[in-house]
Amino acid sequence: MHDIAIYPGTFDPITNGHVDIIERGSKMFGKIVVAVAEQTAKSCLFTADERVEMAKIATKHIKNVIIEKFTGLAVEYVKNQNGAVMLRGLRAVSDFEYELQMALANRELCENVETVFLTPKSKYLYLSSSLVKQIISAGGDVQQWAHEKVIEKLKTKLAFDK
Ligand code: ADP
Repeated sequence: MHDIAIYPGTFDPITNGHVDIIERGSKMFGKIVVAVAEQTAKSCLFTADERVEMAKIATKHIKNVIIEKFTGLAVEYVKNQNGAVMLRGLRAVSDFEYELQMALANRELCENVETVFLTPKSKYLYLSSSLVKQIISAGGDVQQWAHEKVIEKLKTKLAFDK
């Protein structure tokens, strides 16, 4: 039986879509570890520590969640937490090919690590961190897609970036 689910990702920044997946997972597993990738292929707006801090704020209401940073391969990180599963979110069809490829590659690397996919509420199906960043940069309102503190941090960061 699996008691721990590790939810790895970039979380640059965490959105309500991510939180939706964490909330669902928290009802299925004893503990959810949100694993924030320190180095990623994507170039991040926020540092890993900032991404961790925002994830902590946005998930404060969920009791069985902890936020950690990790380096290297996500699947290795999951393997090292004995018996954990990897949790991923599946949005629209566009995610499917990529997520399937990752899950199969991860199985080749660590056969015993299972990947579990959860789907968010339909209103978050097309939501991504990039979309939130783009809308805020253009002066739009993202209130329904991210925690207010996350939005504040985004506004400050993007103002400094200009
Ligand atoms: P990564 O760089 O690993 O894709 P992300 O932070 O973009 O990191 O996403 C982490 C996980 O969360 C992925 O499985 C992604 O599909 C999922 N995810 C991202 N946004 C949403 C959303 N709006 N609803 C559900 N799952 C999501």
